Amino acid sequence: VEQYLQNIKEKAELNAFLEIFEDEALAQAEAVDKKLADGTAGKLAGMVIGIKDVLAYEGHSLQASSKILNGFKSLYTASAVKRLLDEDAVIIGRQNCDEFAMGASNENSAFGNVLNADDPNRVPGGSSGGSAVAVQADLCLASIGSDTGGSVRQPASFCGVVGFKPTYSRISRYGLIAYASSFDQIGLITKNVEDAALLLEVIAGQDGMDSTASQREVPAYSELLQTDKKYKIGYIRDCFEREGLETEVKDAILGVKDMLRDAGHEVEAVDFPYLDFMVPTYYILTTAEASSNLGRYDGVKYGFRSENVTDLTSLYKKTRAEGFGEEVQRRIMLGTFVLSADYYDAYYTKAQKVRRLIKEKTDELLQAYDFLILPTAPTTAFKIGENTANPLAMYLADIFTVQASLAGVPAISIPVGRDANGLSIGLQLMTRSFEEPQLLAFSNYIL
Ligand code: GLN
Repeated sequence: VEQYLQNIKEKAELNAFLEIFEDEALAQAEAVDKKLADGTAGKLAGMVIGIKDVLAYEGHSLQASSKILNGFKSLYTASAVKRLLDEDAVIIGRQNCDEFAMGASNENSAFGNVLNADDPNRVPGGSSGGSAVAVQADLCLASIGSDTGGSVRQPASFCGVVGFKPTYSRISRYGLIAYASSFDQIGLITKNVEDAALLLEVIAGQDGMDSTASQREVPAYSELLQTDKKYKIGYIRDCFEREGLETEVKDAILGVKDMLRDAGHEVEAVDFPYLDFMVPTYYILTTAEASSNLGRYDGVKYGFRSENVTDLTSLYKKTRAEGFGEEVQRRIMLGTFVLSADYYDAYYTKAQKVRRLIKEKTDELLQAYDFLILPTAPTTAFKIGENTANPLAMYLADIFTVQASLAGVPAISIPVGRDANGLSIGLQLMTRSFEEPQLLAFSNYIL
């Protein structure tokens, strides 16, 4: 803990942490030392973990990197965080992210950009940018983030670490600030697959506080990491023919594909006809859900309240206008529009239907193949400011990650190489729902 605290201070300019729980983490570490001495320590004793600023931790500030939650302190602890603590992990601090987890570059935080530790002129990805940089730069051993459309996988890809989003419902969302509830899933950012497996084992499973959390038993993932099976792997041809896919990214992923074939796995090109619909469907549905979820920040119940208020309506309007950042406001407006009476069927209902098609086709492919492989992102880490003037260009950064989120299947990003600038390239693997054991074992084998 002392070493990590020192690293956090030395690398403060990365802006990965919004708050360090210094005294508390040291006290936790001391308590764990005692338990280790008398043989009562939990499974995660010695693991120092950072949490994204969307996870509730009783008595601690919780802001989703937004001004609208200024001064808000959490009244309870997220189930995932509680399970970490119960197994003696040390929580070292609260990590910067895009406001309400909306973004792909960590440029939407009310508390400033996070810098990529490989090149401070570049973004770390988002929205869990602080969480990815914290692991990349050794500011903690692992981070707990959230992934609605790629927010642990894409920053992991940009920062050269492992980013893992389990099956929708595998981890309780109790205490996770809602962005788009039918997509949101807690995810893990780690140095290696073993740590991701161990953490999943601890935090997954049914929870009386979240009725959508799966009742399925939780396998001992960390003991299932060896595999010498020969798998059937599909690579989505259309992904590799996309305009905007960087050549070095493409070559690195195709290189892994060839390596897997040489190692005796059956590797085939597959067609997925809905690639063009992926980003529009994702953004119609997530903005709709977000516009509803964010309705609760009204200046009455939580955090920030505008001072220039004359009546109740102006309290709502001014608080929301001053409290939410530009990207969050854009999404609330988009979501409100697609849910409005005149446009509901044309946009929202239609997008629900397309989501169903995407899910059915993805599930069908995953019946025929154990894994689908594709790049995590079309590019390596881009320059700060490069995409900020053009939200649509920014949304296209999600083209390869939203499929798993629309379909609810588990997906992981693992680092498989670097480009000529030394920037990391991530390979993404998807598998069938609840087949995390084989996803983790196979990722472990590739890494
Ligand atoms: N970049 C995507 C978005 O802005 C993903 C965010 C996320 O997974 N939380 O919605």
